[in-house]
Formats: sequence, C-alpha cells, structure tokens
Amino acid sequence: MPTQAMPPRTIRARRMICMAGEKPARGIAALNQPLPVLENGIMLLAEGRIVEVGQAGSMRLPAGCPVHDLGDVTLIPGLVNAHCHVQLSHLAGKTLWGQGFVPWLRSLIPQVRQPLPPEVLAQAMQALQACGTVHVGDYTGLGIQAVREAAYAAGIGITAFCEWFGFAAPFIDEQRPWPPLCRAYCTQAQALRRQEQWRAWPCGHALYSTDGAVLQDAHAYCAAHGGVFALHLAEFVEEEQALAQGDGALVELYTPAVLPPAWRAPALRPVPYAAALGLLSARTLAVHGVHCTAADRATVAASGAALCLCPRSNAALAVGQAPVQAWAASGTLLCLGTDGLTSNSDLDVQNEAVALLGQGMAPKALLRMLTVNGAAALHLPAMPLAAGAQARWAVLAPELEAAL
Ligand SMILES: [Zn+2]
Repeated sequence: MPTQAMPPRTIRARRMICMAGEKPARGIAALNQPLPVLENGIMLLAEGRIVEVGQAGSMRLPAGCPVHDLGDVTLIPGLVNAHCHVQLSHLAGKTLWGQGFVPWLRSLIPQVRQPLPPEVLAQAMQALQACGTVHVGDYTGLGIQAVREAAYAAGIGITAFCEWFGFAAPFIDEQRPWPPLCRAYCTQAQALRRQEQWRAWPCGHALYSTDGAVLQDAHAYCAAHGGVFALHLAEFVEEEQALAQGDGALVELYTPAVLPPAWRAPALRPVPYAAALGLLSARTLAVHGVHCTAADRATVAASGAALCLCPRSNAALAVGQAPVQAWAASGTLLCLGTDGLTSNSDLDVQNEAVALLGQGMAPKALLRMLTVNGAAALHLPAMPLAAGAQARWAVLAPELEAAL
C-alpha cells in the first residue's frame, strides 16, 4: 500500500515482521528459520520512504506527526508477484477451467487477440496495489507500454517479460533479429530503471511453443545484460507428451498453427530439454514445475534457476500440483505468482501462500517466498520494512496469521 510522499506520518500496527537483513532462502531449513517479530510496531514515513522502524513508545517522533493506527494486524513487506499475465485480465471468467490445460488453451485462443480495455488494465493494477504488491513479474506481450504506464500510475514496480513466441520469422533467419517493439521496450527500460521500478526483458513462452534457438537467444540476452529469462516449464502432462513423444492433444491443437509441419519432438522431457538447450541458469525464472521428477528438481536446483509456483492456477486448470515440499527440499529458489485472471480468481499472491498451507508449508517459509525470494528471483534488491526502503507493505492474510 503506497503512502503519500508528504508530510511525515507514522503507521502503527500490533505486529510487524520487518524481514530486515533477510537473505534469499533455499532449502527447508533456511526457509523455516524463525523470523523476528516486532510487537506494537511503529514506522515513521516521509517522502514515500521509511525513515525509522521501532516499538511504539521507544521512538522519538516529530512534533505533531500524525499516527495512523492500523490496529490488530501484522504488517509484512510488500509482496512480489513473480508471475502474472495482467494483459489477459479482460478475459476473466471467459475460459474453461477444470478440464486440463489443452481444453483451457482451446477456449483461450479465439479470444487472446481481443483488445484489453484501459479501464480493465487500470483495475488490475489497482487490485495488485490494494493487496500490497510492490512488484509484479508480468508476461506482457505487445501491450507492454500500456502495462508499464498502468503499473507506474498504480505505484507498482514491474518486470515486463516481453514474450517471444513461435517458430516462424522474424526469429529464424541469419540474423535472428528481435521483434522491434521488444527491443525498443527493453532498451527503454534499461534507460528508465533508475527513475522507475521498471524492467523489461525478452522471455520465452514455452518449450512447446517457441523454437529452441529463439529461446537460447532470449536467454543469452538476459544473461549478458543482467536480466531475468522467464519460461513456462513443466506445467501440464500434454507438454511432456509433446516434447518426449511428439504426439498428443497439444500437438494436435498446435499443428500447424504454431508447430510447423516439419517440427520434430526433441524426445526429451521438459526439464532435460531446457537443460540441454542451456536455458537453466542463475538468470532463469522457470514457472510452474508441476510435472518434474526428483532428478529434474536436482537439475533445476544445481543450475541456480529460480522457480515460481502458481498453485491456484494449476488447481483451476486441473493440471496437477507442484510438490512444494519436494521443491523446497531440492534447494531451488522458490517464489510465488498468481498467473493471470484466465486461470485464477484474483491477483492477490498471498492467496497462493494460503493455498500452500494445505501442503504443510510453514507461514515463515511462505513469507520468504512472497518477499525476499520473489525479489531475488527477479534480481531485485530486497524490500524489507526498514529505514531507507520504499514505504510499502502488506497486511498478513488471516490464514497465515493463524498458522504462525
Ligand atoms: Zn503464465
């Protein structure tokens, strides 16, 4: 929740989990380390930043500084929603859920080029802001400029993943030129990143929808420029069937509209294929990780890639459940994302954490995934409740609070 830049003011809450000095956590033990809790916390804010955090009564406040008491709540740092599709917000409620990925995709395809009304985009950004999101990693496609402006207006930082999709030109020629708009956005983002919380990087849609050489180009650019290469990976069973065997419902749906007639399956499952292409590195943010073996999880962990889990999207599409405990045990850097409103009922990433309580995850582990791990996965600095940080926070969800 943003604060006004002026004048100085003070926020009080029954508890604060400030996460100052917290480092990204990999592995069960690190995720479950205790988190210090500040009882009866108070934050002095000025110029849109946190000036000081301490216990009410022990801090000296400027004369006349108003105190806004938020009451019986626990404040946590602003949330990082590491995977979203804000641009699909106008298609909420218009896709088929519960039947698997391919029926959902079949319901989405005829609508995907419908223009996004600006007011729907603004509402989505306001919803992200209202639930305490400080930064969103968004698959943004062609409307990247409008998404950037809406994020800026809502006071949200954004990492826009400029999606490279398909097997056709302009990618596959001698020069493999970028789509011109993507290049323009990425260049602009690098120039503006100090003024705005705005990043843009080329990314891959998925192994089954985008040529391996194109994905390698996008990854190479991100690796060379300090970026983040995002990729949907191991989300649904027909993806594995397509890549490993070259057949199944996805191949039938995508040939020839996406998959060229000459396409041949790599005869590898998703994670081994991504690894063989060199797409898994410390600059990679893989998304989903539902259909993976223990060896796959070890491969991802050893590569240094981060994994964004989207449990409610996976449940909505009935694609299976990513085993979060096994992923955590692998030592992979884990974070959370809502995915878009075509596969989720809202954009509040805390609800992903709430969903993972049912898989036995501890709230402190989930809090790390929502904040410091999400920032690390997007290669952003941590954003604790601490002096000098942006005056942004979220209110801990009651379900997480009750499980603390
Ligand atoms: Zn997605």
